Amino acid sequence: MSQFPKVQFLKSVAAPGQFPPDEGWEVAMAGRSNAGKSSAINALLARKGLARTSRTPGRTRLYNYFELAPGRRLVDLPGYGHASVNAATRESWGPLGEALRERQSFAALLMVVDSRRGVSEMDLGLLAWAACPAERAHVLMSKSDKLSRAEAQQMLRQAKDSLAGLASCQLFSAHNGEGLDEARGLLLRWMKAEKK
Ligand code: GDP
Repeated sequence: MSQFPKVQFLKSVAAPGQFPPDEGWEVAMAGRSNAGKSSAINALLARKGLARTSRTPGRTRLYNYFELAPGRRLVDLPGYGHASVNAATRESWGPLGEALRERQSFAALLMVVDSRRGVSEMDLGLLAWAACPAERAHVLMSKSDKLSRAEAQQMLRQAKDSLAGLASCQLFSAHNGEGLDEARGLLLRWMKAEKK
């Protein structure tokens, strides 16, 4: 049984004027292209095909909104990572990003990082940009099923070091479900929390 039984696609936003009403609160989902973000969204929300996987990297610049419950939204941000940190920030987070960041309802960041690659400068750049308090920023170290236990633990330790004071993190696999309950639990806690 899904913890988000009412989840539905809300809208795609291509310009600052198109955002949903700035009420309640929303979690932004970010990650490098191909990190496994779409797969993570589908696994977390238990809805296959809700977020489309394997889009052409760098082509989609839309912000895709999902409603998890009334006044509770998840916004899927464009994948980044095909250029420098500055270019990634400019491209993915230009006027649209500025508009998102100014929203009262923008409350938390869920970032997907390929556990085999580890946390990059770009990931850290976007975390800094989003400026969410550490208890409202969390990293899913994705595709953990592709690593041995020892490798996964080592990558997790390294990620914790890189993210110290900025975000919490955990191992995650959309394929075998590792970390799924933990990540869903966090999302549910965020959904129930007062925003500030
Ligand atoms: P996005 O570009 O970040 O949205 O990434 P996708 O969700 O489209 O995933 C990119 C590729 O990684 C696809 O081929 C997925 O099948 C694969 N992938 C995603 N999550 C996992 C996972 O947990 N385990 C494994 N083994 N592969 C995954």
